[in-house]
Amino acid sequence: MRFVADHDFHIHSTISPCCHDENQIPERILNYAKENNFKKVCLTNHLWDENVKSEAEWHDGQRFSCLSSVLPLPKDSDVKFLFGAEIDMDYNFVLGVSPERYNIFDFMVISTTHMHLAGNTVRTKIQTPEEAAEIWVLRLAELLKKDLPWHKAGIAHLTCGHIFRERTAEVITLLQDEKLYALFSDCAQKGVGIELNMKTIFSSEEEKDIMLRPYYIAKDCGCRFYLGSDSHKTSALSAAKENFENIITLLDLKESDKFIL
Ligand SMILES: [Zn+2]
Ligand SMILES: [Zn+2]
Repeated sequence: MRFVADHDFHIHSTISPCCHDENQIPERILNYAKENNFKKVCLTNHLWDENVKSEAEWHDGQRFSCLSSVLPLPKDSDVKFLFGAEIDMDYNFVLGVSPERYNIFDFMVISTTHMHLAGNTVRTKIQTPEEAAEIWVLRLAELLKKDLPWHKAGIAHLTCGHIFRERTAEVITLLQDEKLYALFSDCAQKGVGIELNMKTIFSSEEEKDIMLRPYYIAKDCGCRFYLGSDSHKTSALSAAKENFENIITLLDLKESDKFIL
């Protein structure tokens, strides 16, 4: 059976410092879920937990007290509205969530690829695709060494433009099959979800093959996938379902490939 697009586990609201759409509020997100017949949605604003020390400086809007200010989330008989967070990892591989929060969150999206944040996630600005590829592998490998409740964790946007802006495809090309197989085998074994939200309009067949390769390898390793639009504005919510369906078609995903939360 084809993978059913019945959820979105990565959505920001006005709480996130990078959300500039005042209409991106929980009630609007619930409507988006209902319009698309989703069974579950998860709110995942950016978190750097104030209980976790970091050499880097994080935005005050990423504090747990800020994220929790949206509670309680709206309730609905058809849609389960989950409370989550998108968690950063600093350049010392410290993760921005303290263990006492694990029970509070229904889901934790962890980003290893916010590699544009020089001084936070990387010490200094990345200079070359080679350097970016090395850091991409290292950050994911370091994350997987941690003891986390993997059954309710996902790894965000592994091929997003934050990796190396317009040269991200070059970086993805440099990731060796062997390393990807080792990392995704570990992901599959831990049961962590792999996020799907890459764009599905490509400039060429070559670009398509490059950008989808990591996901084909993840699938081959037995990883489970979830949909997460990473919407920061209502126009992105409107475009999400069609993109999800395109991704499902491109990767030929079945219900058995789904990460269940
Ligand atoms: Zn992100
Ligand atoms: Zn996000």
